[in-house]
Amino acid sequence: MFALMQSSRLESLHLSVDPITGLKAVIAIHCSRPGPALGGCRYLAYPDDESAVADAVRLAQGMSYKAALAGLPVGGGVAVIMRPAHVESRAALFEAFGRCIEQLDGRYITAIDSGTSVADMDCIAQQTRHVTSTTASGDPAPHAAMGVFAGIRATAMARLGSDNLESLRVAIQGLGNVGYALAEQLHAAGAELLVSDIDPGKVQLAMEQLGAHPIANDALLSTPCDILAPCGLGGVLNSHSVAQLRCSAVAGSAHNQLSNLQVADQLERRGILYAPDYVINSGGLIYVALKHRGEELPTITAHLSKIGARLTEVFAHAQAEKRSPARVADELAERLLYR
Ligand code: NAD
Repeated sequence: MFALMQSSRLESLHLSVDPITGLKAVIAIHCSRPGPALGGCRYLAYPDDESAVADAVRLAQGMSYKAALAGLPVGGGVAVIMRPAHVESRAALFEAFGRCIEQLDGRYITAIDSGTSVADMDCIAQQTRHVTSTTASGDPAPHAAMGVFAGIRATAMARLGSDNLESLRVAIQGLGNVGYALAEQLHAAGAELLVSDIDPGKVQLAMEQLGAHPIANDALLSTPCDILAPCGLGGVLNSHSVAQLRCSAVAGSAHNQLSNLQVADQLERRGILYAPDYVINSGGLIYVALKHRGEELPTITAHLSKIGARLTEVFAHAQAEKRSPARVADELAERLLYR
């Protein structure tokens, strides 16, 4: 456990259980130098405790890097709640989790992430004010999608020489809160959509509303396209899957897309431009961080609009140094965090 914490420079790890509601939660605070640690709360089934801790630690580090590159006055932290096979009262479980956050006295601020909803955040808010993306503050997903859309434009510009998305073939894996909103924006910009989701209802909706082409889940990554946008869960890019890719660039919202950094080098060798996940998907964090500070929408939108330029800067450094944008972004983030 300590080796894992040291290798990712994690500040602290908090484990909580509540036998009454069945809550088993991990809160990983990666860095609180720039400000309180802010980051999403996942509610997912994990095969074992170690996988839940490893997920929280990895995500928390990414959250710190994301906040640093987005120029936000917050550090990175993440919560993972292990979804039980059966839950008596979901509301009571999230309220119990709210009490855990309250005990940290503002060192960690939570937000919506995979498997959690605005309603869950409202339950947490019954117990603590250190929560965002409630009904009152709003869902960050549309803002995350706006950021990814801007990032896809920057990626297309860098890789294909034009940010005109008309007729560009974009393959989206995962039509959830972010993926579907992104698909809508890409459709409005004239892109051709190839989509997959483990929920056939979402694919059907995208076909009917956006004219999207359905692709089998196991074929999406090897589908010929201009840009692949992973918008489901993380870890989709590994040595095996990268060898199958038939795209010019990867630019999507999913957290921790790379199974390890060597995969970024493999993408580079294959001539596939990779938009570092925590740079392109920072729109959600920008929204919740600024909203929590009481900023108004125009200020938030102005901050969001910088995502494309930030990516362009990372791509330029990467090209000049002939290195993967993932390595360049990591170094930039570490310099900002520990200067
Ligand atoms: P979500 O749970 O609403 O959507 C995920 C979607 O992916 C679901 O529709 C699910 O059925 C689908 N999916 C899962 N595995 C799949 C597979 N193997 N093939 C095809 N589809 C699959 O989550 P979300 O909020 O849309 O977030 C998507 C990703 O973006 C996550 O990795 C999340 O951490 C990240 N992200 C989200 C936000 C946000 O504000 N919601 C912000 C930044 C990053």
